[in-house]
Formats: sequence, C-alpha cells, structure tokens
Amino acid sequence: MAKSQFSSKRAPIYRDVADDKWLNWRWQLSNRLNTADEISQVITLTDSEREALSAPGLFRVDITPYFISLIDPDDPQDPVRQQVIPTARELVPFTAMMEDSLAEDRHSPVPGLVHRYPDRVLMLVTTQCASYCRYCTRSRIVGDPSATFSRAEFEMQIEYLKRTPQVRDVLLSGGDPLVLAPRVLEEILTRLREIPHIEIVRIGSRVPVFMPMRVTDELTDMLQKFHPLWMNIHVNHPNEITAELEQACDKLTRAGIPLGNQSVLLAGVNDNVDIQRELVQKLVRIRVRPYYLYQCDLVEGAGHFRTPVAKGIEIMEGLRGHTSGYAVPQYTIDAPGGGGKIPVSPNYVLSMSDHKIILRNYEGYITTYEEPLDYDPKKAAKGRLARPEPGQSGIHGLLQGEQMFIKPEGFDTLHDRHGIQHRLKDGSKWVPLGIGSGDANEPKPE
Ligand SMILES: *Cc1c(COP(=O)(O)O)cnc(C)c1O
Repeated sequence: MAKSQFSSKRAPIYRDVADDKWLNWRWQLSNRLNTADEISQVITLTDSEREALSAPGLFRVDITPYFISLIDPDDPQDPVRQQVIPTARELVPFTAMMEDSLAEDRHSPVPGLVHRYPDRVLMLVTTQCASYCRYCTRSRIVGDPSATFSRAEFEMQIEYLKRTPQVRDVLLSGGDPLVLAPRVLEEILTRLREIPHIEIVRIGSRVPVFMPMRVTDELTDMLQKFHPLWMNIHVNHPNEITAELEQACDKLTRAGIPLGNQSVLLAGVNDNVDIQRELVQKLVRIRVRPYYLYQCDLVEGAGHFRTPVAKGIEIMEGLRGHTSGYAVPQYTIDAPGGGGKIPVSPNYVLSMSDHKIILRNYEGYITTYEEPLDYDPKKAAKGRLARPEPGQSGIHGLLQGEQMFIKPEGFDTLHDRHGIQHRLKDGSKWVPLGIGSGDANEPKPE
C-alpha cells in the first residue's frame, strides 16, 4: 500500500515498546490503562477526571495504548480524550435519564437478542469492548466482566432465529464482537450461516478504531468465508483517522466487506459543521461510507454530551449538497422508550398543491416540480408480496389501505366515556369502503 496520508502516533511512554508488541492486538488488550495512576503516565489528568476515576460504581474504564496515544496530553478538551476518560460530569444525573433508554430489554424475546424491526435483529454476543466509550448506550450491561452471555443463552438466540423466518439480517454487536476469541466469533458466524433465511450478517465494531492491529489477515480470511458480511465502524472525530485505521479498513474492504460508519453527535467533541465535514470526507477517503449520525441517547453518564437536536439539523444542513452525497450520513434519533430509529433532517419541501411541489435546495434556491397530470396509480408496477411482518406495516400500511388509522393504546376505551351503545358506535361502520390501491388486502374492521 502507498504511504498513508494520515499520521501515526505513539505516546512517549511507549516509544521503546518493540513493534512486534505494539502491533499485536493481544498486547494492546492486556496493556490497557484503567486507573488514574496508569492514565496519568500518558496525560495530565484534571481534578474532575481524577475524581471520576476514583468514584464508586463508575462505568468501566479501559483504554488501549494505541488509542490513548491519539490524545494531546495537555488538552483537557481533546476530542479523543473526552470519549474515553471520565470526568465528574459523568456522575451528574439529568432529567429524562434512563438506564435502558431504548427499551432494548423489553424488545428481547431471548436474552441478548433485540427484535425491534420486522426483518432484522440485533444480537448481543459479548459485553466486552477494546475500550469503553463514556456515552455508551448500553452501559447497563457492557463492561461487567462477570456478566457476559452464556452458552445456553447463545443457543436460545440461535433457536429463536431458526424459528423466526422473517429475520433476514442479523446485526452482531455487544459489547464488541471483534474482541471475542477468533474461534468463538467463527462459531457464531458458522451457526448463523446454517440458517437459510438469514441473508446478511453485519458486525458493529469499534475495534478497528480502538485497536486497528486486530484486523489481521487471519481475521479477514476468516470473515470473508461468511459473505455477504457488512460492517459498521464507529469514528466520531477526524483525529481518530490514522494510518493504522486506514490500513485496517483497506484490509476489510479488500476482503469484500462494505464499511459504514456510525457516529454520535457529542457536545464539545464533534458538534461543529467543519469537524463533521472533515470527518465524513476523511471517512470516504478510507472507503468508509458515513451511515448514521446519532443524537446522543438519554443514558446515564452521558448528560454532558447531549446537544439540542437543532445542532444536528444545522450539521446536516452544512453537509447535504455541500459535499459528496456518499459522505452524508443520516441523522437519527433512537427514540426513547423503544420507538426505534427515527431519521431527522432539514426540510426541503416548502409547499405543495394539486400537482405542484415547491422545493428548496441547500443554497436556498427555490424551485417548482410539476407533477404529471396523467399518472395512473392502478398501472403502477406490481411487486411480489413482501414477507409477512405482522403488525408492523405502520404508516406504509395506512398508505396501502391495510387500515385507516393507528390509535394509541386505550383510545377506544377512553373515548367510550361509559356512554350507551348506539348505531354509530358499531365498529363495523368504520370499515373503509374502498381506499388505497385496488389490490390491497381487504380492510378489516377493528
Ligand atoms: C439499529 C438497530 C438495528 C439496525 O437498524 P438499521 O436501520 O437497519 O441499521 C436493528 N435492531 C435494533 C434493535 C437496532 O437498534
């Protein structure tokens, strides 16, 4: 590979470590730093950081020598530092803070398997990571070395997947699947590939960022036996894009694994349009497609990282149109209470009338798109019937005429007001009499 345009760093205390150790991921894992004494050999700790590092019950701290070397030792605001070194602000509760803000546990039919969406599941395969992000959305389960998933739980996950044919996409996460012992990861992938209806497998991992030396030829040789395999990495700031990460991503893409990036919008770290633009442009240079930019979850310990949603909209306004479409992620709020991911974006549709739509572009240019007057929805292309997705057709189901309304729980009882039964209260009166496309399923009464 040509010489990288990105830099490499090694903190002074690691200068004399031989390359065969530094470049060995097992050495990186076993030399992680986690106490104030160890960390202060690399960076000058603030009082707030020292206080947090000695607080009881703190979410686990561990930082690889590689990743801590990316920190400017004398800058308390360093964007890499803030992601992995706790401060006293982490100990402050905030309004709406929750332990499991995405209600993942409620959506788990078996331990460690989150089945939230119709055709795909999130499979938590470990609670361990190479280093721990201070804003971790899963800090309720991640990091505890005594609480990892058991063999029996893994078998239950596989059994659930076997009997749930609508699942065509399995997302391995945790914790970080790439810290598993190589043969354990290989076994998980082998078992998933034995299930015929699982079309794609994806891995969500920050290992390439925390410990790029983990991406060895042996690893990519193993992974490429399980195609189609996709991977999302997690980079939040351009300072994390190094020669080593570039090389790891090159190995993964050469093994045929398409790479995406998920980042989190973090106050004081990357809540700035110029930083985000530099980040996404550097990502596409290393062939990583920005996928999601997440609004920070309402999770314990992450209060000080939260920004208003307006900041995210402003960033998206500064990306779309201003840079390559490939470099633009989808800004997303993972809805508290288990609503799932909701895309949020600036508005580009200004108005509409009968057959006109008024749009604006990123420059503020306002234009009219004239819609056809002779479009016949009955002649629209016919597709094959999708796999059944019971009860989750949602707004699209309304458009298809499957049903006419979606009601909050208890709606009918509430509006009944204990009144007497009369002719118009009969539920069958409210069956739609012919909406939607002609061939949609017969609308059903409530
Ligand atoms: C994010 C997530 C997925 C995957 O969502 P995509 O939008 O397909 O990337 C699946 N299940 C759960 C529970 C998730 O949180």
